[in-house]
Amino acid sequence: MAVIGGGDTASDCLRTAVRLDTEEVSCLYRRTENEMPGSKKDRGLAREEGAQYQFLTQPVRFIAGEDGRLAQIECIRMELGEPDAKGRRRPVPIADSNFILEADTAVLALGYWPDPIIGETTPELKTHKYGLIVADPETGATSRPGVFAGGDDVTGPDLVVTATAAGRRSAAAIHRFLQNN
Ligand SMILES: Cc1cc2nc3c(=O)[nH]c(=O)nc-3n(C[C@H](O)[C@H](O)[C@H](O)COP(=O)(O)OP(=O)(O)OC[C@H]3O[C@@H](n4cnc5c(N)ncnc54)[C@H](O)[C@@H]3O)c2cc1C
Repeated sequence: MAVIGGGDTASDCLRTAVRLDTEEVSCLYRRTENEMPGSKKDRGLAREEGAQYQFLTQPVRFIAGEDGRLAQIECIRMELGEPDAKGRRRPVPIADSNFILEADTAVLALGYWPDPIIGETTPELKTHKYGLIVADPETGATSRPGVFAGGDDVTGPDLVVTATAAGRRSAAAIHRFLQNN
């Protein structure tokens, strides 16, 4: 099994996979460990539990087996080039370094944003960057009357407590809305 990404989500996925008795669990990350955004502590714990790391490795293609399910991941080796705008050295593919990794499961731990289909298919529902829903921070009211939103769909990736607080505020606002309509 391969987990693709280098943040805390990747560490969580790796440790969860190990605990589910997955035979071999590898993290694929396109830069080196020095550039990994996730916490060093969580990475250490993932390693202790048995996760393996392949740095400077970029997946380029998922390959299905005869049953149509994932069987292999084609990867390419990377090297670090010039720094980008944030000062992080940019990963650059090494020509002809492609190789095949056997894997029956791939987890994309590459950040998460709303499914854009909700914004695209719901009339009068305003969204903005990355498909996030525009909502009043006090009430959760959206641009569509009677529709309320809160949590990661509104803020982007955040915390459970932020989503819970938004849920509580929206519940009170929905109660008021129902009483007045
Ligand atoms: C790996 C990982 C680790 C994290 N660790 C922490 C942590 O340690 N502490 C912390 O505070 N936060 C953590 N977070 C963040 C936290 O999980 C989120 O901020 C929180 O879950 C957001 O809550 P939410 O209700 O907005 O969204 P979610 O919890 O994502 O709930 C959205 C729900 O909507 C459902 N859904 C989606 N589309 C539809 C649809 N079209 N119709 C019906 N249902 C739909 C989904 O299935 C899901 O159940 C972590 C996140 C990840 C991914």
